Amino acid sequence: MTILDGKKISNDIKDEITEVVAQMKANGEKTPHLAAVIVGEDGASLTYVGSKVRACARVGFESTLVQLPETITQQQLLAKIDELNNDPEIDGFIVQLPLPKHIDTQKVLLAVDPKKDVDGFHPENFGKLALDMETFIPATPYGIMELLRRYDINTSGKHTVVIGRSHIVGRPISILMSRKGQPGDSTVTLTHSRTNDLASFTKNADIVISALGVPNFLTADMVKQGAVIIDVGITRVPDNAVTKGYVITGDVDYQAVSEKASFITPVPGGVGPMTIAMLLQNTLLARQRSVH
Ligand code: NAD
Repeated sequence: MTILDGKKISNDIKDEITEVVAQMKANGEKTPHLAAVIVGEDGASLTYVGSKVRACARVGFESTLVQLPETITQQQLLAKIDELNNDPEIDGFIVQLPLPKHIDTQKVLLAVDPKKDVDGFHPENFGKLALDMETFIPATPYGIMELLRRYDINTSGKHTVVIGRSHIVGRPISILMSRKGQPGDSTVTLTHSRTNDLASFTKNADIVISALGVPNFLTADMVKQGAVIIDVGITRVPDNAVTKGYVITGDVDYQAVSEKASFITPVPGGVGPMTIAMLLQNTLLARQRSVH
């Protein structure tokens, strides 16, 4: 069994980006600049945004954190997005989700200029992904593809079962794994909360990608010997034994499943760090595409 070390691979990717940025600086070119918009004070969202901004400094990018109050109106938020769309200093930006209930998330995501949409959530970019066109691949599925690629895991003709059909992970990774190429060329089954007898699918899967957010959902009896297991789930499970008061738990019963798996991602240290690395990669692409 091989552990898919997302921490190591994400550091490799960050090192590669750092080199490109150093070269840009040496050539007197503008360096990539990512902005992150956060609305409200949600603890998990603040942690994620903080890591994204710190990662920018690590690779030599400029970054701007736009912190807005929970009470902001939709119109004010849209005006801020318009400002970022038109700011030549900003190469790409993200709007951290979830947004407060009084704001229409779809309207906000539609307002982002697709050329600066480094999260790849705009329908124009999502459509391009489905049509094999140049786009921004959403960071989490992009990170999964990169892990599979860098560990040279053969996905061609394999049966990939995805659990969860979210717009940011399950749906796009199911499309990517079915596209032509390596990684890809898989036969994909997309399962979700309405799937009957989900275990009958996972038991026959060569690759399982789990993105539902239910701790320890995927148990050893649900996977076949030698399967590749990708655990996207991140759930804070209360635990008074640790100072933080919670532990981060994945969707996979790691101990038992790792005994059957050929490759497996740990949580934390698997898909999570890859997501941030690929956001940086998309920001670099946004910068490079804006000059060519
Ligand atoms: P979501 O929370 O929007 O949706 C969950 C999906 O799981 C739905 O499509 C639903 O149909 C499915 N589902 C729920 N219960 C199910 C069940 N019992 N059986 C089968 N399917 C079921 O999904 P999301 O935003 O993709 O998040 C999923 C998990 O991945 C969460 O834990 C989230 O925190 C995590 N996540 C991690 C990263 C990362 O960087 N590693 C990025 C995004 C999300």
